[in-house]
Amino acid sequence: MPEIRDFQTAENFRIKVVEPIKKTTRAQREEALKLAQYNAFRLKAEDVYVDCITDSGTTAMSTEQWSAMMLGDESYAGAKSFYKLEASAQEVFGMPYVQPTHQGRGADFIMAQYYAKPGKYAVGNMHFDTFHGNAEILGAIPVDCVIDAGLDASSPAEDFKGDIDLKKVQKILDDHGEDAISVIIITVTCNNNGGQPVSMANIRAVSEFAKAHKIPLVIDSARLAENAWFIKHREPGYADKDIREITREMFSYCETATMSSKKDGLVNIGGLIVTRNHDFYLYSNVQAIVHEGFITYGGQSGRDMEALAVGLREATTDAYLDTRIAQVKYLGDRLREKGIPIVEPAGGHGIYVDARRFFPQIPQYEFPAQRLVVALYEEAGIRAVEMGACAFGGKDAEGNPIWPELELMRISVSRRVYTNNHLDCIVNAMEYIYAHRDEYKGMKMIYEGPITALRHFTAGFELL
Ligand SMILES: *Cc1c(COP(=O)(O)O)cnc(C)c1O
Repeated sequence: MPEIRDFQTAENFRIKVVEPIKKTTRAQREEALKLAQYNAFRLKAEDVYVDCITDSGTTAMSTEQWSAMMLGDESYAGAKSFYKLEASAQEVFGMPYVQPTHQGRGADFIMAQYYAKPGKYAVGNMHFDTFHGNAEILGAIPVDCVIDAGLDASSPAEDFKGDIDLKKVQKILDDHGEDAISVIIITVTCNNNGGQPVSMANIRAVSEFAKAHKIPLVIDSARLAENAWFIKHREPGYADKDIREITREMFSYCETATMSSKKDGLVNIGGLIVTRNHDFYLYSNVQAIVHEGFITYGGQSGRDMEALAVGLREATTDAYLDTRIAQVKYLGDRLREKGIPIVEPAGGHGIYVDARRFFPQIPQYEFPAQRLVVALYEEAGIRAVEMGACAFGGKDAEGNPIWPELELMRISVSRRVYTNNHLDCIVNAMEYIYAHRDEYKGMKMIYEGPITALRHFTAGFELL
């Protein structure tokens, strides 16, 4: 066999437009933090050097997308741009009916209205906040049934930590009756525990289980392309398949999919409902007319739909995904080399640092992950996001505090936006903070906002 040399290992794009970012001094950052009450969501974006608070809507678009936008058909009904988006979504999802929405949460809202039922369980691997909130408002009971390894930030690396544990789902039926569950939702990749993928075998098994118990299966598919890449590279039998063949197989097992196109749609706004249930499609048309916009735009402009039609196709290619996943892995590998405790393996859209192991001296009720977010901004002007006691903590019916299993800081990596040099800044700052980790104390929440489930967006803190 001749040796195959490949020196073409860099990004699959070059840069055509640049956006300046601003350096700040430590004094400026301390002042900004005070004004923001130590909540990263309340910082001004222009005071952030490298912004890793989310991968949502922060994508850089391609030349193909920008040029497609000029073709945007802004007709109210039946725009050409809608039919292009419909065709692109049909190709990626392999399902017939496509309803655009203004964002993923618009799709979540409509899906929850139809599939979540008062007093019934809505089961998922780990529900995304917006579905969770919608289900609660409707009086449904959202439950997470991810495998145990997915709930332990220090568990050894496993290929598919986003998988659903069907034994946990079965137990709900055993305890509460055959008709206790109104819907099962698989989130791909599983954002809440590290952007961890779900295997095709698990999607298939959950689908068979759902069919046997006559429960509809929905896939929350914001990061469908990243999930497909992991299946291709980790699951036996998929190495030679095309990414779009894999996405179509994933969705062949479900009845309906919702999508926030701000992630793997490679656009800055928008969402989708895609379904093979004609009754639900008609229902979503009516709901869209009331809440989103007419059936053929659902809150998106013609140019938005053009960019999304192209973005869905670009995201589901090896060339794009190889670069994308390699960049996130680069950040994970470098942090691990420095001994920093992260969730392993690296996920699809960011690196999740385990704040319990990072700051063992800070108890969970003093918000260790939040403290780490503040430290990273203080030191380097880098903005990450807390996914722990503040975001997922709350109170039970008697008002007793509930603390989540996972206490993480997510460093999200925006698509096609930063270079590995930017990621090196994160690594260097994290290395410094880790070396000084014993000197840190926790935080006290001094303001929460009116809705506990949404407090991470509004909360205020003090340093202890
Ligand atoms: C972002 C996201 C949503 C909500 O979508 P928006 O576009 O932010 O409204 C729903 N589910 C998942 C898995 C997401 O990542």
